[in-house]
Amino acid sequence: MDLELKGRVCLITGGSRGIGRAIAHQLASEGADVTLTYSSNRDAAERVVREIVETYDTQAQAIGFDVKDPSACKSAVDTLVKDKGGLHILVNNAGVAIDNLIMRFKDTDLETIFRTNVFGPFALVRAAVRPMTKARWGRIVNLGSVVGEMGNTGQSAYAATKAALDGLSKSIAKEFGSRNITCNVVAPGFISTDMTADISEEMRAKMVDAIPLGDMGTPEDIANAVAFLCSNRAKYITGHVLNVNGGMYM
Ligand code: NAP
Repeated sequence: MDLELKGRVCLITGGSRGIGRAIAHQLASEGADVTLTYSSNRDAAERVVREIVETYDTQAQAIGFDVKDPSACKSAVDTLVKDKGGLHILVNNAGVAIDNLIMRFKDTDLETIFRTNVFGPFALVRAAVRPMTKARWGRIVNLGSVVGEMGNTGQSAYAATKAALDGLSKSIAKEFGSRNITCNVVAPGFISTDMTADISEEMRAKMVDAIPLGDMGTPEDIANAVAFLCSNRAKYITGHVLNVNGGMYM
């Protein structure tokens, strides 16, 4: 299916690995001009850029900044807009999971997880809606989580950040719908990436058991949903939370 993304300027946070890498590939394969970001894994990010330019007929670049820093978020968007002449698609994918029981959860960890998973996306959206408004076209996709929808023992802070993105996204959808900017959430289930690599075999088997489709998801499963929401095919979808979780939660 042609998603008509040729020439669209995209910013994907956390494109150095995992789901973000798959999103960068998917959007680039549809002809989008892709800028992916990293926080510390510069080599991995540069590798993804090389893979993309060698495989697809489009442009790609990697930039490094910490999404916890709102001024870095703003200057990344401003620089990109200056270089490319606009910004059409923002995918807020970068995120961290810090798991602990509530009674043991440290304030410093609470600050880190909220700054990364909520403050970063907020700052990026605030900068991105300007060029999108000017272009009268914009797509914002925020990566939520099945945990934000259903809660989970030991993941209260992570669940709170992801549920916050649902509320943020619906508000953006209302505030910017008249400017032809859509904003949606893709909420992955249990996906095979570095984030889930440390889960014990026993826990993994238990979680897979609770998935009607009987397996973990792949980063590409998530990237397909994100790419669709970034396209003109999804022009009448906004403020939606799309579960991509094999039926783990419905
Ligand atoms: P991952 O493999 O751990 O990769 C995280 C990415 O985010 C990396 O590119 C990392 O950059 C970047 N990043 C982390 N902290 C950052 C910061 N402070 N500033 C800038 N970039 C930062 O994660 P993933 O599994 O692909 O997850 C991607 C998104 O999907 C996250 O929002 C996650 O919460 C969500 N999600 C994942 C799952 C799952 O099962 N995997 C399930 C539900 C939701 P570096 O490489 O430079 O460190």
